[in-house]
Amino acid sequence: MRAASLVLFPALGLVFMLLSLPGALGDPPRDKKAPDQKVVLVIHGGAGVLDEDDLKELRLSKDEHRKRYEGALADALEAGYRVLQQPKKTSVDAVEAAIRFMEDAGVFNAGRGAVFNHDGRVELDAGIMEGKTRVEKGGEREGKHDPRKRAGAVAGVSHINHPISAARAVMEAQRQVLLAGEGAESFALGEKIKEKYHIEKVSTVYFWTDRRLKEIRKKIEEEEKKGGAKGPGHGTVGAAALDRQGNLAAGTSTGGLSNKHPGRIGDSPIIGAGTYADDRACAVSCTGTGEVFIRHAVAHDVVARMLYAKDSVQKAASDAIAQLPDEKDGVGGLIALDRDGNHYFAMSARSLGMYRGYATSEGEIYVAIYKDDNPKLMKKVDGGK
Ligand code: ASP
Repeated sequence: MRAASLVLFPALGLVFMLLSLPGALGDPPRDKKAPDQKVVLVIHGGAGVLDEDDLKELRLSKDEHRKRYEGALADALEAGYRVLQQPKKTSVDAVEAAIRFMEDAGVFNAGRGAVFNHDGRVELDAGIMEGKTRVEKGGEREGKHDPRKRAGAVAGVSHINHPISAARAVMEAQRQVLLAGEGAESFALGEKIKEKYHIEKVSTVYFWTDRRLKEIRKKIEEEEKKGGAKGPGHGTVGAAALDRQGNLAAGTSTGGLSNKHPGRIGDSPIIGAGTYADDRACAVSCTGTGEVFIRHAVAHDVVARMLYAKDSVQKAASDAIAQLPDEKDGVGGLIALDRDGNHYFAMSARSLGMYRGYATSEGEIYVAIYKDDNPKLMKKVDGGK
């Protein structure tokens, strides 16, 4: 007996040691290339990255593609990071700033670069959420509203240049969480809101980019031939940030799926599906086939895994994506940032990649596109610690 335990215990010890090593057995494969710095802002520009055929069609060389997207991601990160460096600015401010930049860039499927629905119109969705869970006792709103979880969203808007700011306005009004269509527009374009949140009314022509016009013509032609051509719009945008007060926020903005049915709403403005934040766990923004993300409540699933199963952000995010169906072009991906500044990019097994990047607390800005890309240092922004 004694001889057996002498052999058995060291062997068990070895197994326990192995299991507790980071990345060993139970853990998902970690992004071994990601440096260990603490991150304060993480963004994505959509899971539908351009493949070789897309590049050919757009007459875009590989180098030009990289330059254009890496540059846009890095500038969006810089915009968000600079906001975070200002005293009193919050994670919500940074998320909004980074997303507003991407909504203006014209290269993402959000704001000016958004895809068209089957009727040749844009219908934009956006959602934003604060991670704060604190009850502010004695505050103006105590007893009237639940101030612990603030979130706001707009869906199916066609005349707003910055849907993410409209979503923020809905959140801060604390009456509704999700406004759609004309009601969302009349709320966001009301004089006071428009001015406070820097939102402009734009005509449909504002969204007529060459690329999206060609894309919708092609999709409709394909549909006439084989039926049902609806697809990723290449470039939904999202951000998650952590501020000096330790508060998280997440936001997502999109034109949805190209050639979608008019009135279709995706996961981005659905709190818990495409967007979620909780200071006790992490902030999440998703991209991909919205219907799947809604059915699986993916953004909240990541948070729930951290809260209830005590998973790390890496494990929670990668398991939440791994449970989704594995479709031909991949279903999508997500970004997640936890309250300690650890982040993770999760991508479904067969997806090519995700436009993505992060800013560290030191102001270093990294971006990547395809799945196996090493995060590339683009710049170091002054003002970092
Ligand atoms: N998730 C978005 C939607 O379904 C699209 C995307 O991320 O590409 O509306």
